[in-house]
Amino acid sequence: MSELTGIGVGRGIAAGPVRRMPDPLPIPSETPFTGDVDAAVEKTAAAMRVVAGWLNDRGAKAGGEAQGVLEAQALMAGDPALAKDVAGRIAKGSSPERAVYDAFLSFQKLLEGMGGYMGERAADLADVSQRVRAELLGVPAPGVPESDEPFILVAHDLAPADTALLDFTKVFALVTRDGGPTSHTAILARAKSIPAIVGVTGADGLTDGTLVVVDANASTVHVGVDAATVAAALVKRDEWLNAANAPITDGALKDGHVVPLLANLGSPKEAAGAVALGAEGVGLFRTEFLFLDSSTAPTVEQQEVQYTELLEAFPGKKVVVRALDAGADKPLAFLNDAHEENPALGLRGLRALRVKENILRDQLTALANAQNKTSADLWVMAPMVSDAEETDYFVALGRELGLRVVGVMAEVPSLALVADQVLETADFVSIGTNDLTQYTMAADRMLGSVASFQDPWHPAVLRLIKQLGDAGAAAGKPVGVCGEAAADPNLAVVLVGLGVTTLSMTPAALADVRASLLTVTLDEAKARAARALNGRTAAEARKLGTS
Ligand code: PEP
Ligand code: MG
Repeated sequence: MSELTGIGVGRGIAAGPVRRMPDPLPIPSETPFTGDVDAAVEKTAAAMRVVAGWLNDRGAKAGGEAQGVLEAQALMAGDPALAKDVAGRIAKGSSPERAVYDAFLSFQKLLEGMGGYMGERAADLADVSQRVRAELLGVPAPGVPESDEPFILVAHDLAPADTALLDFTKVFALVTRDGGPTSHTAILARAKSIPAIVGVTGADGLTDGTLVVVDANASTVHVGVDAATVAAALVKRDEWLNAANAPITDGALKDGHVVPLLANLGSPKEAAGAVALGAEGVGLFRTEFLFLDSSTAPTVEQQEVQYTELLEAFPGKKVVVRALDAGADKPLAFLNDAHEENPALGLRGLRALRVKENILRDQLTALANAQNKTSADLWVMAPMVSDAEETDYFVALGRELGLRVVGVMAEVPSLALVADQVLETADFVSIGTNDLTQYTMAADRMLGSVASFQDPWHPAVLRLIKQLGDAGAAAGKPVGVCGEAAADPNLAVVLVGLGVTTLSMTPAALADVRASLLTVTLDEAKARAARALNGRTAAEARKLGTS
């Protein structure tokens, strides 16, 4: 058995035998053309018209998103500039097939040069070129393989015309050698909710009939597995599909253990979208996002308007608002404009607020006013808190100003190490895994050169989270996660296994996390967490904690 890796698209898992896309047509020869130029130009123009018509028909049959893509390809086939380029090349002595090949290739290079989305459309143009040449040669255009049994489709890359009429009850997953996260293959996989791994080095070596397991979440293709492994993967696939297609429900594990799923928001305007995606409340409202452009501190009244709008969107629901988190990646001139050599280790979060307590008092007053005007269950927390003394300070101030539930974020390892002391006064803790990882691994989250250290799967980070989870359980108080880690469906399971009681994430991630939680019991989540804690690296922990 061997393992190939690429970029996973979607979250699912699939397994089955490989079926390869047939190889593309060979490159036409450069032998000079000696036939009738006018007739050749007309024949080529006719072939391009036929292909454009065929693509339009196929689009109409396919409907939906595929129709738009196929119609765009039809426009390429009917493009007058391309037809002119082809005719010019024939006049200069190229055969019709070679002229089509060269003309399309030059447009393809143009698109590739633009990069990004346009670059990835170059593959669509290559497909049109193939179809026109097949038409000229009177041979069938390369098509998708057919099979009565489910299979894993392997290709260099997939063109829309290939995939528009694919039977997705048979194609369980896509694996391509080329393509990136915005390639047509990736778009299609997302639209059809099937797993895909794109950009797989070694995909060319996969042969028809080889049994593989495709895991989009882990971005891997396991090659040469046995039938029992395929069967086990297909059971997981069924569980996954059942969960992913389930109606929006409140967050829970398979055994009914409740894990509320909350949204991370930066503006009251995002509330409706989050509710539509099933957010059961807000787990992190980043108040500093409201005032990033302000040169002066916002007034109580200005803030009260915003907080009231937010709370009104969640009647009767929990809304966790974070006090202004200034510094490092989120500069707020009115809180801290001092030059610091290491701003991530500087006067940020609660440290900055404490120095300008009047600003903190205004914010907590505005929050208390909004709390008293609405029915939402407002919780307020401080960012970048280091220990019990800072916790005591913030909780006391919050209570003095009339807030009902006051807690702290766990972003600095020191706070996790004294979590028992912190939870003597704090009503709750919310773990900010982005910063907790940055500080645990001593790796600036803004710095690409140390990005590999910024992995919340690292066992050092997981062990701190366990310590926080244990302290929460001992104190009988909630410990949530509101960093990016909560949006990783596999890590979400491990976090629950470590004792985390709520998960808060970007609303787009809610469906995948909800589906993932529904596939395990609490005992299974705990077993995964226990395995992950023993990893020696983040990659090993991810592997150990993923199944
Ligand atoms: C975090 O650090 O994980 C967090 C949620 O806060 P932010 O990303 O806003 O720093
Ligand atoms: Mg943070």
